[in-house]
Amino acid sequence: MVTPSARGAVGELRYAVFVNDPPPRTAGTLPNGEPKGGSPVASTLIYGRTDAVLTDPAFTTAQAQALGDWVAGEGRRLTDIFITHGHGDHWFAAGLLAERFGARVVATKGTIGQMPGSIAARPLLWDKAYPGMIPPSPVTAVTVPGNHFTLEGHDLVMVEVGHSDTDDTSVLHVPDLGLVVAGDVIYNGVHLYLGESVSDEGFGPWRDAIDKVAALEPRHIVAGHQNKRFDDDAERTIAETRGYLDDADELLRTENTALGFFNAKIARYPHHLGRTVLWTSASVLYGVREHPGEDVGKIRLAAWS
Ligand SMILES: [Zn+2]
Repeated sequence: MVTPSARGAVGELRYAVFVNDPPPRTAGTLPNGEPKGGSPVASTLIYGRTDAVLTDPAFTTAQAQALGDWVAGEGRRLTDIFITHGHGDHWFAAGLLAERFGARVVATKGTIGQMPGSIAARPLLWDKAYPGMIPPSPVTAVTVPGNHFTLEGHDLVMVEVGHSDTDDTSVLHVPDLGLVVAGDVIYNGVHLYLGESVSDEGFGPWRDAIDKVAALEPRHIVAGHQNKRFDDDAERTIAETRGYLDDADELLRTENTALGFFNAKIARYPHHLGRTVLWTSASVLYGVREHPGEDVGKIRLAAWS
């Protein structure tokens, strides 16, 4: 179900990761007959002797409850909740946890700017797939000066990396731990969401974002979507995310249909989680190709439903 684990420690500063399994979905199947699902969402707790900071607290009421109980069990005062990017699965439950712990919600200006769009998509997308499961999600996040805050004197830096699986994404750099909490810039054993990489630049901006993470020279990377049995090795997760994009570029040249892309990716990544996201990605990428000039937002919404 859920597996907290302390993964890194330097002096008084440590971090631990809690992975929320995807909530059950009410209906729908994939082309291979599997029921539709979601992807696991990872939250990181960075903590010192008395205080802690939490990242990306998932999106359903049940996930917030499980995550909150785990955080409470760590026995630290939660000061801040950091959100990496605007996608609702990373922050719709932030309000519940902020209230429970009296914490502040922080993000970059760019991420905060994306949040109203995610709220607007709730009735069309999120609440349809997960009816009654997502709590009220007002935007309460605030910026911090210089995108920098501290935890017991240790630097926490929000690094803006631009477009990755959506616009205006960021990561949290914790230099004293050699840690980057990477949101959706880096994935770990889970299919990448490629449905917002449909401009002429393709995956170029995402590759640039990965380069910005690599330039921080982290030892550990917590991916926002990860197989909880995997470690946080930075070199491996960076290489695998780059490789997945390279593969996608190749398959977009060699496969003529969304179904061909979907099947080829599964053949290459048989153990990756999140096949619903894979099918959505394929549907958007080929939908845009097959219907030039059509509204991309509509194609994306159809692909998610
Ligand atoms: Zn995500």
